[in-house]
Amino acid sequence: MAIGVLSPKLASRIAAGEVIERPASVVKELIENSLDAGATRILLEVSDGGAKSVSVTDNGHGIPADQIALAFERFATSKIDESSDLSGIGTLGFRGEALPSIASVARVEAVSRADGSDSGARLVMDNGEQVIREPAAGPPGTRIKVKGLFEKLPARRKFMGSAGRELTRIRQLVSTYAVVYPSVAFTFVADGRARFATPGSGDVRAALAAAYGARLAESMLEIDDDGSGAFGVGGLISEPGTSRGTRRYVTLAVNSRWIENRRLAFAVEQGYHGFLPERRFPVAVLSIRTPLDDVDVNVHPAKLEVRLLREDLVFREIQRAIRLALSDFAPVRTLSIPGRPIPSGQGVPAGNASNPFGAVAMWPSRSITPPPEPGQPDVPQDQPISTAEASEPVPTPTTQRAILPILRVIGQARETYILAEGPDGLYLVDQHAAHERVLYEEIKQRIGSKAAESQPLLLPESVELDPRQMEAVETHGQELQSAGFVAEPFGESTVVLRAVPSMMANSNQSQTPGAVFGAILDEISEGRGSDSWQDRLLYTMACHASVRAGMPLTTDESRELIRRLEQTEQPHTCPHGRPTMIHLDAGALEYQFGRR
Ligand code: ADP
Ligand code: MG
Repeated sequence: MAIGVLSPKLASRIAAGEVIERPASVVKELIENSLDAGATRILLEVSDGGAKSVSVTDNGHGIPADQIALAFERFATSKIDESSDLSGIGTLGFRGEALPSIASVARVEAVSRADGSDSGARLVMDNGEQVIREPAAGPPGTRIKVKGLFEKLPARRKFMGSAGRELTRIRQLVSTYAVVYPSVAFTFVADGRARFATPGSGDVRAALAAAYGARLAESMLEIDDDGSGAFGVGGLISEPGTSRGTRRYVTLAVNSRWIENRRLAFAVEQGYHGFLPERRFPVAVLSIRTPLDDVDVNVHPAKLEVRLLREDLVFREIQRAIRLALSDFAPVRTLSIPGRPIPSGQGVPAGNASNPFGAVAMWPSRSITPPPEPGQPDVPQDQPISTAEASEPVPTPTTQRAILPILRVIGQARETYILAEGPDGLYLVDQHAAHERVLYEEIKQRIGSKAAESQPLLLPESVELDPRQMEAVETHGQELQSAGFVAEPFGESTVVLRAVPSMMANSNQSQTPGAVFGAILDEISEGRGSDSWQDRLLYTMACHASVRAGMPLTTDESRELIRRLEQTEQPHTCPHGRPTMIHLDAGALEYQFGRR
């Protein structure tokens, strides 16, 4: 074949492949354009994993009607001009390649109305050809809809994964943007069903809760960037008890631009050294602040990788921030009050540097502490009761039950802890942990008696699952069913959820039952340790059905929770082994206040 110059149309199709590889790349480019347009609300809708259609609607500044066709020409951009020196670019896009690339390999409809004008324009492109251009009404902002990606390029289409896989990629991507841009309210709809919606309140934790789950978000530790100095690191990182089997959950942003940088991600991992087991990775959303001209964004075709001029410095800064947060992290039980009371009859003060618990007595997780019989002398909480004493006057309990003292609810603190008074001091009860324990034992008992209650959904929900979740459903159908889930496989990557355990039926209004089902499957497969799959299923269910921290409880509700906690076999710990309560010993309080 003789040498010839490719037609611009063909050349642009080939080039498109560099930027647009799959539906997720379309999603990425469209979301970035919306963000660059200053949108505060972005709606992403996909169907069939994006292969059938991807649509992004924003409330950004829009495209002026007379420029809408220009936006689809190669190298047409409003973000830089001839005078820009390409350093210190603040926008996510700047090459003017995304829209023409997408339009050359799909059917695209763009509807936009620019800020300050009262009518907009509509443009339809079909695989590189302009089909329609006309005035259009509509709200301010832009909607771009992409259909039939690569339909005319079967070779490319072959490289796309199954709809399920593509959907997983898209979900990961939009979740990442959602946490990097917490001030933007993202709504993600797939195949007609809302998957998540972030509030756009500016709070990273709230965005993370919507995109990744409330439980994870709740447990994340905060790193504060105090804003001083030219460089800074802030964000949220998982506490050492939480980890993931992949690196995917480490999200880095430099000056609010999401980046992938292996070296800096490694700095995060290094920060966790000694805190996480081998081959386990943290969840982190870190915002790195550097001077704008320290960043060179013009290196990667998909603009993902940026070059940082002083990467070593940033590396150390990340590591330092993480170490600091992790070593500051004190699980509730290390709450320390210096010194402790001297129990009468004992001359040696037991509290010293080697006892970080000080006067705060922890509930022993398995030992039995019967309440003092009326008239019997009070037994100090942290003193084990000798066998002789325990077996004498009190009838031996039939089971190894840990017994709670009688607690009188005083109130709720931080919408997280129930404050109660017992015969021997104050008790702080973690409402979520306590409720988890209650639900866990209740459902375990019901399954034991073969009567797990199931509640049919009024509208059966079809739930898209990723391959790992699908495998869990196939392998553990038996356990799921006995716990009360009725889920029927429907095609390769979908199940129809027909019923859920009764205890979950009314528990979570912010997520659909299907979303909760998916999250439960995820958490079970993330779980580790020697617990059986069924056990993990039960406590994950209990966790999802439990009251959260941050939920106001009335005194009656608190009382009811404590009453049910009293009925459990192991009231002192939640199913994961975290304490449900902390005891502030009466003697210790007296000592602290100098009363003795
Ligand atoms: P780039 O983002 O690199 O400038 P694109 O091809 O993605 O190139 O977009 C071309 C131009 O179209 C942008 O520079 C911008 O002016 C306009 N544009 C695209 N999407 C939007 C949107 N959602 N809101 C407002 N303007 C947009
Ligand atoms: Mg762009």
